[in-house]
Parts: sequence; C-alpha cells; structure tokens
Amino acid sequence: MKIDPVRKRERMVREQIEARGVASPEVVAAMRAVPRHLFVQEALSGQAYDDRPQPIGFGQTISQPYIVALMTELLDVRPGMKVLEIGTGSGYQAAVLAEMGADVYTVERIKELHQQARERLARLGWRFVKLKLDDGTMGWPEEAPYDRIIVTAGGPSVPAPLLDQLADGGVLIIPVGGTRRMQTLRIVRKEKGLVREEDRGGVMFVDLVGKHGWEE
Ligand code: SAH
Repeated sequence: MKIDPVRKRERMVREQIEARGVASPEVVAAMRAVPRHLFVQEALSGQAYDDRPQPIGFGQTISQPYIVALMTELLDVRPGMKVLEIGTGSGYQAAVLAEMGADVYTVERIKELHQQARERLARLGWRFVKLKLDDGTMGWPEEAPYDRIIVTAGGPSVPAPLLDQLADGGVLIIPVGGTRRMQTLRIVRKEKGLVREEDRGGVMFVDLVGKHGWEE
C-alpha cells in the first residue's frame, strides 16, 4: 500500500507540533507545505513523519519535526529577512525558512550533502536558497550582516564570527553544550551592541565541527 504523505504530514503538524504548543501560523503553514519525505533517504521515506530525527547519510541527521518547528518559531522569521543557516544537511530546514519568505543562506561542510541539498532544493522549487560548501563556524562574511542565524549542529560555544555577523536587532539560535550530542538551546539577541543570552531546554544534535566548533 502506498503511503499518503499529505495525510501523514497533516497528522505530524497536528500531533507533534500544534499539540506541543508551536502556535505561529507561519511556522505551522511552512511545516505543512514542505514535503519532508523527499528530504530523507528514499528507503526511509515511509518513516519521515515519525516523531524522531532521521538519518541523512554521512553520520548526520535531520532533526525531529518538533525541534525544527520550535527553533523556527524561536527564530521569529519574517518575510524578506536575511537568514544564515549553519548545517545545510538535507536542506529541509532551509526549505522551511524559504517557505516563510526568508532570504536564505546556508553553509554545509560535507561536500556530498551540500551537492545533494543544492539539487534537491532546485528540483523542489526553492531555487533562491544560496548554498555554500565551507566551515560554517566562520559564518559567511561576504553576505553579512544577517537578521537571523540558526545553527543546526551542536557546538561547545557560540562561534565568535557568527556573533560578529549578526545584525543589530538580530537573533541567533544554537545548541550549545559542554559534551558532545547533549546541548541546551541557546538564544542570543543583539540589541544596540549589547548581547543577551537565554537558554531553553535540552536538545540533542550532531556535532558542529570546525575552527570554532568541535575538533574532527
Ligand atoms: N539542518 C539540516 C540538518 C542538519 S544536521 C536539515 O534540515 O537537514 C547537521 C549538519 O551540520 C550536518 O550536515 C553536518 O555536516 C553539518 N555541520 C557540522 N559542522 C559544520 C560546520 N562547521 N559548518 C557547516 N556545516 C556543519
């Protein structure tokens, strides 16, 4: 029997996202619009809407739907904003941000994932997402500043270049933790040159590997 991705996605939005308190209509609409099953490996597309992370190859994972929705809501994205994502992975989070009208820049360090995400985003219609193969802990200085920055891998601290590249009035979200694979979600706000940090609950992300991240 063939799976019905639209119904599965509708159920995911209701039971995993709305039921847990993500209320932003824009976030909910984007989660409803992006076909998550086309961002995981084909053999796993039947479980793409399950309430957990999914493998995307090279030891990496695409976050659980609820975590994507929560981080996107906390990021407070509005149409036209310039958003930098570190950790392109499958391109799913980038598509969610693009669907909300953001001008998305995304950096990935693994060449194959970068290339696959580029092809996938173009094929599915998100042609305006800008992708770069590089160490994202250095940010993307040529295009700075960014209204919003989202890091979808966990690092030991907030990389200094990202803080530098955040616009005044900007918001940065990153999982930060003293040990690998266990982090707290840190929200950093920059206002009139002052930086305020707030920690939310515990999360589990793959490692942010790079000059201002973990060693390989
Ligand atoms: N946001 C992705 C999932 C990210 S998984 C999605 O929606 O599918 C985390 C990704 O961060 C992995 O692909 C990993 O290779 C990448 N990554 C880790 N350290 C990085 C760095 N320094 N720069 C860029 N990407 C990095």
